[in-house]
Amino acid sequence: MSEDLFLKIIAREIPADIVFENERVLAFRDINPQAPLHVLIIPRTHVRSINDLQPEHDELIGEMFRVAADIARSEGHADDGYRVVMNCGERGGQSVFHIHLHLLAGRDMRWPPG
Ligand code: 5GP
Repeated sequence: MSEDLFLKIIAREIPADIVFENERVLAFRDINPQAPLHVLIIPRTHVRSINDLQPEHDELIGEMFRVAADIARSEGHADDGYRVVMNCGERGGQSVFHIHLHLLAGRDMRWPPG
């Protein structure tokens, strides 16, 4: 899985600014932030994209959203609001093929997204 950049972050082979971790998920600041707060929440287990999700992942995906909400709250953005995004595939804007939830906060979000 050497092509999976995020597995290298999980293995501490690449440094990252980790804001939360437990046995199932890891959250770290995006290297190219698109908002004052931009955190990626990833599962430790490798899932390539949303297309590869199985029923066994349902609980994990729920936990990723809850972790995003906890980080938004702890960073002071819960009341103002924020956005969580998961890109899928090339046309969806996915560039790293290990599923990840983007948490973006600290500025107004536009709709529709680009
Ligand atoms: P995607 O485009 O796949 O939805 O999101 C991938 C995200 O990973 C991008 O926002 C990109 O800035 C971020 N990213 C890529 N390489 C690294 C890295 O080495 N470290 C961190 N912290 N983020 C990365």
